[in-house]
Amino acid sequence: MQSKAKILLIYTGGTIGMMKDFETGALKAFNFKKLLQKIPELKQLDCQIETISFGKPIDSSNMNPEKWVQIADSIESNYASFDGFVVLHGSDTMSYSASALSFMLENLSKPVIFTGSQLPIGDLRTDAKENLITAIQIASLQQKGKAVINEVCLYFEYKLYRGNRTTKINAEHFNAFTSPNYAPLAESGVHLNVNSNLFLAKQRKKFVVHKELDDHVVIIKMFPGINERVLSSIMDIPNLKGVVIETYGSGNAPTEEWFIALLKKGIQQGLHIISVTQCSGGSVSMGQYETSTQLKKIGVISGKDITTEAAITKLMYLLGQKVSASVFKTIFETSLRGEML
Ligand code: ASP
Repeated sequence: MQSKAKILLIYTGGTIGMMKDFETGALKAFNFKKLLQKIPELKQLDCQIETISFGKPIDSSNMNPEKWVQIADSIESNYASFDGFVVLHGSDTMSYSASALSFMLENLSKPVIFTGSQLPIGDLRTDAKENLITAIQIASLQQKGKAVINEVCLYFEYKLYRGNRTTKINAEHFNAFTSPNYAPLAESGVHLNVNSNLFLAKQRKKFVVHKELDDHVVIIKMFPGINERVLSSIMDIPNLKGVVIETYGSGNAPTEEWFIALLKKGIQQGLHIISVTQCSGGSVSMGQYETSTQLKKIGVISGKDITTEAAITKLMYLLGQKVSASVFKTIFETSLRGEML
């Protein structure tokens, strides 16, 4: 007989793990040791669940690379003993964390599912139960004793997405996330419909965890009126190594001389500059318009259809890997974990 899947729940914080104190009305952190008692439905799941928690659960606005390493450590040290991992995380920065972890966890052969909720688990109208229960079910999916999913995903409001393709789009609706350039990997309704043709290829190579992330990076969002003073002071930040520029449309930016000259000087001095679109969907296509031909010429890296969240975390990861200048552009423009075309 096949044994039950073993799932590790990693609780980092966020609304999902909070309960309303009915006397004061305030939201307070929930003791995850008591999870099974509070959500008796979990007992009906055909899997064994264990939980670990951040010492001090956080609102995800306080997430940072150090804490990403903490999540990666928890997965690494429990990798052999569990079949799948569910990370409970605040929704605000969940797409950044799912993207970062997708790069840090190389050759995954087990699922890592991020989830959270818009309302606390103790709230009458909570979305936490559905998100949590289905995320665990998805993490338990097995076929011939092997995990069905072998990548970092994000499950929210009936949809399973590739984590590094997601972005938070709504602070009010239960449907808080979208994956603008990649279809959902699974949708849950009466049945769980899995689109296995969209999954990453199965991994045979050894699982490796990368913990070096370099935060000498910045995101610049273009806007009409951005001036030389502002841009040059950003480019002059000591030790700055990488810049993600959110350009217009399919990767367009001003053709003004000062603008191109500043970027060119940065690139010549070893700065990696990546162009991503500030549109909520679509791709950078440098050279399509005159307003992006110069960028292409001076060596700006194309982020293609990557999200800003995945671009900045990929940048931190590749800088942490000390990828050499001669291949940095080629590697950045290559899909490493299904984050771009
Ligand atoms: N501020 C919360 C957080 O991101 C919101 C949430 O959990 O959805 O931690």
